[in-house]
Amino acid sequence: MYLPGVGPRRAEQLACVGIRSVGDLLFYFPFRHERQECRTIEHLDPGMSATVVGQVTALQVRRGRRGTTVAGTLTDNTGRCRLCWFNAGWMADKLERGSIIRATGKVVEYRRLPQLVNPRFEVLGENASPVDEREPAHYEGIYPSSAELSSRTIGRLISANIDRLLGLVGEIQPPGLRRLRELVNRRWAVEAMHRPRSEDALAKARRRLAYDELLLMQLAVFLSRRHVKTEPVAAPLRTTDEIDRRIRGRFGFPLTAAQDRVVRTIVEDLGRSHPMHRLLQGDVGSGKTAVALYAALLAVANRVQAAFLAPTELLAQQHHRTILRFLASSRVRHALLTGRMSAKARRELLQEIEAGRIDLVVGTHALFQDDVRFCKLGLVVVDEQHRFGVRQRALMRKKGPSPHYLVMTATPIPRTLTLTFFGDLDVSTIDELPPGRAAITTRVIAPADQAAAWDFVRSRLLAGEQAYVVYPLVDESDKLELRAATIEYGRLREQVFPEFALGLLHGQMASDERESVMADFSARRLAVLVATTVVEVGIDVPNATCMVIEHAERYGLSQLHQLRGRVGRGAMPGNCILMPTRSDGVDHERLAILTRTTDGFQIAEEDLRLRGPGEMLGTRQHGLPDFRVADLLKDGDLLRDARDDAARIIETDPQLRDPAHAGLRAELAARYRDMMAFMRAG
Ligand code: ADP
Ligand code: MG
Repeated sequence: MYLPGVGPRRAEQLACVGIRSVGDLLFYFPFRHERQECRTIEHLDPGMSATVVGQVTALQVRRGRRGTTVAGTLTDNTGRCRLCWFNAGWMADKLERGSIIRATGKVVEYRRLPQLVNPRFEVLGENASPVDEREPAHYEGIYPSSAELSSRTIGRLISANIDRLLGLVGEIQPPGLRRLRELVNRRWAVEAMHRPRSEDALAKARRRLAYDELLLMQLAVFLSRRHVKTEPVAAPLRTTDEIDRRIRGRFGFPLTAAQDRVVRTIVEDLGRSHPMHRLLQGDVGSGKTAVALYAALLAVANRVQAAFLAPTELLAQQHHRTILRFLASSRVRHALLTGRMSAKARRELLQEIEAGRIDLVVGTHALFQDDVRFCKLGLVVVDEQHRFGVRQRALMRKKGPSPHYLVMTATPIPRTLTLTFFGDLDVSTIDELPPGRAAITTRVIAPADQAAAWDFVRSRLLAGEQAYVVYPLVDESDKLELRAATIEYGRLREQVFPEFALGLLHGQMASDERESVMADFSARRLAVLVATTVVEVGIDVPNATCMVIEHAERYGLSQLHQLRGRVGRGAMPGNCILMPTRSDGVDHERLAILTRTTDGFQIAEEDLRLRGPGEMLGTRQHGLPDFRVADLLKDGDLLRDARDDAARIIETDPQLRDPAHAGLRAELAARYRDMMAFMRAG
């Protein structure tokens, strides 16, 4: 980046906060603005940020063990205030008694006088005029900063260059749209973000730039969706009453009304000649697997293959076991493909798949590999979609001419986010649990009350039930964290539950080891399973009725909700005990939401509010850039406008060839490179 005052070191610091080009710098916006008013000293109020003009009437430099402090007094003809700079060795000689200065900073009260703390200042001439309180307030942008790069440095760099750089900002919206949505000029908006003249200007600038982000995002989503709809024709899968009856007969239970509704929708989708792309969301235990299996069996009845993808080996195995149970004595030929099969077994299985001698294959991402070729892939089911990224979706779609596609997630996704991140998919929701499900009681236990919690767990174990103790690792591959989990396991085994059999399950274990621990737990040879996050999704042991989650605050609410869905799966009531690390009550309050509701959607909304969409969904995985200005929580109306506008644009100009759309097209290519690649890959 070539800018005056930016050498290699500064360039590196800038790169660390994501600024690599002049354009990045211009679009690096403050996350808030500090309002600064011009005031005479008598009108200074604690808490405000103000600019004052006066004479330095006293000045002291104190060198102490904690660094140098510069303190002074500033006087104008209305009164006196204090000035104070901490760690200010650098400025001891920049100021002298008698100087007239203009100082700007935060006002606090100190020994009954107002005090400006670490103010910025400018030395004025002898005849400087006093402040004019009628002068409009000034807004200082506060930029996201790093340890090496302060907000002020970034602000200075921007204001030194902005007049030249603004020329680079072109309009991207067609004029009609700007009028319709009453959007200010783009260049004006960028300038106003950095140096707004009023609150109103700031609001207009924000709205304009947020709209740009939302419109581009919606265009990207619509384009990829349109791409899906115009894909080569899929083989329509037909059904008959006989097929329907036979598939339903496999389950041993009637489908719930919600399952039934979703099944009908899916059957309709599959009967069309363009591929289904559907997101199926439903709370943990709502019976998504049965719905997916219905779709898979319909595919098999139509003599095409179905692939069932799970995010972990453990889950793939479990799905396979479930499927085995449902398919007992049927003619459906099924197999499990995982990453750790012997080369020979794998080769043989791949041959079978390619020859079409396997109807239904369950597997992990091992199914994405290039050497996996299907004879006639008709349906792909992906469990726990949020673990698979856009990229994997694209890879899987390369496997068949155009398979139908069903993705399932147990993390309910708030509507604004489905529009945003899964806009290329149709959405179905299972909003009902199968009957006979016992309730889960959730409690938050303060660290001091842990003994009572363990006593409670012991009482359930004595009744013949089983328990999970979850010890979350922020990073499954972190050795120190794993050690902490292992030590905790030892403590539980030797001190808390010496009379019971305990097992440990974590992501670093070899998978056969993991499998044998799981098998022991399923067969009740273990009473307690101490686990890191690997139990998060899908594990099904109905006799496990208790779950204790240590360091519960490390998880998002949706994740915790999903975790606790592991208990209360049978007829016996489930118990979930959340143990926050700290006792100060802050985490307690957030976690308490889980004690009040078991509605996954409500929890997801709350999670979204507290953590934002990036954290909640792992935006990076989706290949979508973070918004700089738009806020999905606050800009819901703007999002809807942008969505309508994007739909209209794509309808009239699907390739964005109209010269009026050239700006949008260029921005799309720059910002949504991943997504556009995904479109091409499909
Ligand atoms: P999900 O994948 O949505 O978390 P599952 O498909 O694993 O849920 O179902 C949870 C449990 O409920 C399984 O043991 C399954 O056999 C059972 N189940 C699913 N649908 C029904 C139903 N309609 N009636 C009774 N039990 C059901
Ligand atoms: Mg499931």
